[in-house]
Amino acid sequence: MAHSSKIHRERPTKIVATLGPASSTKQMICALFEAGADVFRLNFSHGSHADHRERMRLIREVEQEVGRPIAVLGDLQGPKLRVGTFGKGPIELKEGQNFRLDLDPTPGDGRRVQLPHPEIFAAIETGHDLLLDDGKVRLRIVKNGGDFAETQVISGHVLSDRKGVNVPDVVLPLSPLTPKDRADLVVALDMGVDWLALSFVQRAEDIAEAKALVGNRAAVLAKIEKPSAVRNLLPILELADGVMVARGDLGVEMPPENVPRTQKLIVREARRIGKPVIVATQMLESMITNATPTRAEASDVATAVYDGADAIMLSAESAAGQYPIEAVQMMDRIARHTQQDPTYQTGIDAQHPDLQHTAADAITAAARQVASTIEASAIITYTTSGSTTLRAARERPSVPILCLTSKLETARRLMLSFGVHATHTADVASFSEMVQKAVQIAVRDGLASLGQSVVVTAGVPFGKPGNTNVLRIAVIEEEHDPRQLTLPA
Ligand code: PEP
Repeated sequence: MAHSSKIHRERPTKIVATLGPASSTKQMICALFEAGADVFRLNFSHGSHADHRERMRLIREVEQEVGRPIAVLGDLQGPKLRVGTFGKGPIELKEGQNFRLDLDPTPGDGRRVQLPHPEIFAAIETGHDLLLDDGKVRLRIVKNGGDFAETQVISGHVLSDRKGVNVPDVVLPLSPLTPKDRADLVVALDMGVDWLALSFVQRAEDIAEAKALVGNRAAVLAKIEKPSAVRNLLPILELADGVMVARGDLGVEMPPENVPRTQKLIVREARRIGKPVIVATQMLESMITNATPTRAEASDVATAVYDGADAIMLSAESAAGQYPIEAVQMMDRIARHTQQDPTYQTGIDAQHPDLQHTAADAITAAARQVASTIEASAIITYTTSGSTTLRAARERPSVPILCLTSKLETARRLMLSFGVHATHTADVASFSEMVQKAVQIAVRDGLASLGQSVVVTAGVPFGKPGNTNVLRIAVIEEEHDPRQLTLPA
């Protein structure tokens, strides 16, 4: 195995790669890491617990061998709604015809089918639309009978057993955690995932419910894929540790023309609050079967990078496609090229969010400014909880953020954040020891070389989260030779 130990990626936008049948050997996981994957996603909608445990074991082996923290995101399926089955195979629904949905488990036909979700009948009203099979079928409610609904077909298509149902117009009284999700959550936490993603979040209470179960064992990420979640975005962002623009379901639940501005809104607000945001789904979709993407897909990836997303994600491209490694390499190349465009940083700076009136934000913003003025090669943060580093990432500086932390979980979680090169290191006792260690790690990991300077921020005295109050410029000198550095295993 090629060891790119202490690798530093010259790409601030992170890459999330979903693992699946096409990417489950250690060799493949290592190759995906080498190609540029910073975060691996385990999708609990597919595969067994044994599959996920084995992938997790291999990721941690790769992490150990490459000597870099790797974040693992466990993605829970959530309350996916589905119709029942049909007695004589798929049916064809024609525009204008009537179609009934009810609770009767008897196999359906061309006039009716089971919809085994009483909570939908309790919430929908005449005039609301239901979308079936990723929006291929659109039904409008003409009568809600309480335990059945008469609908009119607005867009027709073939409909087969257990196809998904989206209910975009209402907030359903559903927990985001089904019994399956609760079982998956226990396994995911036991495996030691760093991030846990919740699907079909509708409101902030959904995050509170999950956080009560997760505690601080993992960070919680809200997948924004329902119009109700977009409406409740700010309270959701306040409670969640990060968000995902889950464009697959979002694009079913809202008209396609609304997706781009919603993507930009979510990315902007997540940056403003200072929490990581992933842009996901269909980014390089054609690479499931082709070795190169369409030009429109390349442009889509670049748009997320121009917008300043923390991370961009591959789903089936890396989990089940024919070209997982090429897809990661392609994402990496598009992101790098985009960030070399002189207008890229201008656009990022133009969306600079207001600062909070805190010492931490003042120092963090000053660090970015100083780094730019003196052309420093990195900003260095020292963190326990991760909060100082998140504030630095919010600044979207043009130089990497080297994060030192004595907590491995913090280093792993921060690998999702824009520009953060997280390192796990033994605790330091004083600011001068921290500066010494920081510059040595900067040299070791290729973020700075002899004669260059770095901007160091810290909270003194150490140990109080969010207490950033010191900014120092350090110049790399001979004594910072990393060979003199002792690092934890
Ligand atoms: C999505 O809908 O975009 C998404 C990421 O969700 P899923 O896990 O269902 O792919």
